[in-house]
Amino acid sequence: MCITRRNLIKNMALAAMGYAFLSSDLFAKVVTHKVLPGDTLNELAVKYGSNVNDIRRVNRLKDDRIQVGKHLIIPVPDTYQYIERVVKTTQDIRIEPGRWKYIVTHHSAIEQGNAESYGAYHKRRGMENGLAYHFVIGCGLDSGNGQVEIGPRWLKQQDGGHVRTDLYNQIGIGICMVGNFQVRKPTQAQMGALYELVDYLSQVVQTKRVRYAVHKEIDPPGHTVCPGRNFPLAEYHKRLG
Ligand SMILES: [Zn+2]
Repeated sequence: MCITRRNLIKNMALAAMGYAFLSSDLFAKVVTHKVLPGDTLNELAVKYGSNVNDIRRVNRLKDDRIQVGKHLIIPVPDTYQYIERVVKTTQDIRIEPGRWKYIVTHHSAIEQGNAESYGAYHKRRGMENGLAYHFVIGCGLDSGNGQVEIGPRWLKQQDGGHVRTDLYNQIGIGICMVGNFQVRKPTQAQMGALYELVDYLSQVVQTKRVRYAVHKEIDPPGHTVCPGRNFPLAEYHKRLG
């Protein structure tokens, strides 16, 4: 496979964020490994479930020799089940470092709908930028179960319109999970997609310490129950902080 200069630059930027760019359409997570005496590329490939060619390419090695003490970047198998499109799309967006300080999770409070229909609804309610959230995660009805839809506000890096307190709209990425979690729990696929998305966004926003919240923790007490009593709030904070 030919590696263009553009791809190499992308590679370096992605590696800094914990990802590797393996080909025009394949991404993988990476780990770093400090080379110990006796390590070989073959053994490292097996150990991490990677492969020698990818390790060589990402580290720009001319042959299989590796130096003890050097830190190698090891691409591990692609684990982007849900957010491949988000990763590809986000690569071409300029994100101002440090601009996004919060990630705020919501439920839609109804079972129907998707990014398009919520966007139309928000427009009708007078939001000129449309869809108030940056992302919508489907439940299998009007979009796929665990499907992550990207809203125009993310593409244009615009403030959200998802909470009442405007400051948090300016610094908070809004993610809406389709469903009424007062009535049911989010699906497993929705939670999987949420964590994958949040992990990824936490890296690309280049904010020292991203804070994780749900809607009711941001707006004044009593304003909302969002994302509903069946949202696994304790697990969310345990997992993310
Ligand atoms: Zn909400």
